Amino acid sequence: MKSLDATRLYFDKAADLLELSANMRTLLLTPHREVTVQIPVERDNGDLAVLQGYRVQHDNSRGPMKGGLRYHPEVDLDEIRSLAALMTWKTAVINLPYGGAKGGIAIDPRQYSRRELERITRKFVDVIHDLFGPDSDIPAPDMGTGAETMAWIMNQYEKYHGFSPACVTGKPVELYGLPGREEATGRGVGIVTLKLLSRLGRRPEKTRVAIQGFGNVGSHTARFLRDAQCPIVAIGDASGDYYRSTGIEIGEMLEYVRDHNNSLAGYKGAEYLGPSGSQFELDVDLLIPAALGNVLTELNAGKVKARIIVEGANAPTLPAADAIFDAAGITVLPDILANAGGVTASYFEWVQNRQYYRWGLNRVRQELDRAMAEGFEAVWQLAGQRKISLRTAAYMLGIGRVERATILAGLA
Ligand code: NAD
Repeated sequence: MKSLDATRLYFDKAADLLELSANMRTLLLTPHREVTVQIPVERDNGDLAVLQGYRVQHDNSRGPMKGGLRYHPEVDLDEIRSLAALMTWKTAVINLPYGGAKGGIAIDPRQYSRRELERITRKFVDVIHDLFGPDSDIPAPDMGTGAETMAWIMNQYEKYHGFSPACVTGKPVELYGLPGREEATGRGVGIVTLKLLSRLGRRPEKTRVAIQGFGNVGSHTARFLRDAQCPIVAIGDASGDYYRSTGIEIGEMLEYVRDHNNSLAGYKGAEYLGPSGSQFELDVDLLIPAALGNVLTELNAGKVKARIIVEGANAPTLPAADAIFDAAGITVLPDILANAGGVTASYFEWVQNRQYYRWGLNRVRQELDRAMAEGFEAVWQLAGQRKISLRTAAYMLGIGRVERATILAGLA
């Protein structure tokens, strides 16, 4: 199933409950603008590489559009479209004054040198710099990109538009970035997970966790939940899944990936379970997909033993799997709420940049924790009132807010 079809099914379920007209659905689903660009670059060895770059600006009725930039070989227009729409609903669930966007380049960043990645990023900005900016569309890191990529984007953008640190978020702290932005998505996943465990009457120390992905989101989620006393018994990445019944030593694992090109390949501190996805069948209480999309499907959903799934990644669960989880009474905390900590901290960074004022880490954490807790409460209450899943409640909340802003602004 295409990514867009999957998110469309979730949209329709919520739109039915909101009793949206066919025209309003079309309006909310149709992207504001989509661009596909060619990025020709000279490689270090003199060869020419021609890459495809994308930016989809989905909706701006609640504010400037906001969304990450992904460098991954499987990036295509369908995936970026679907992720851009998810950003619109996500910013609305947390009630940030933003719309949604997403971008990416179809590239395997591990096959390119740092200098090549810098050239590619700057070339991409050269072709799209008129389409984004502090008041229109603000990119941020996603899979395969990080603070350094954002610094290159800011620097290249400023060559055309002058001083504009708010044109991109997720920048290095030393260069107009926000302390706490890097950990924010994982911290947010951790905060809403603890809220959910408390609502479900579960104690963290009795909740055995498996996490797919040990990049930005997965590693910070692991750290936060370990600090909250949850035993993290399995962690996986692109190299496969690793298991330790007494709990993985997160600090040691972090050191290992730092020394091994961001990969767990060859890690000996835990038992190698098998290729990525093996851990989905483990006897754990909580499963956190925090890597790729579309990993929980109708083929593996029935084998999942965890009673709780928290979506750290964007769109990890296909609708067929979601239906299986629903029928089995498995609680799923959806991506548009669970991983919204990143865009929330990005919002703080943007505000800070626009005020020429620095926020400290304590303030960032406090405001982030409050925003995530409020988002969780709103979704939890709505799900309880309407007797619907947390996903449908989150979609209803997000879509309802975007619809209201669209109507209030007037269509004429
Ligand atoms: P990252 O590039 O920092 O890390 C990705 C991780 O996924 C790595 O550990 C990598 O090895 C692993 N991975 C890649 N292919 C895999 C495979 N086939 N099987 C298992 N693991 C695989 O990316 P990230 O920023 O941590 O993003 C992870 C997910 O979270 C994505 O879905 C992203 O859209 C979402 N997300 C990220 C942020 C953010 O602030 N970084 C915010 C919201 C959502």
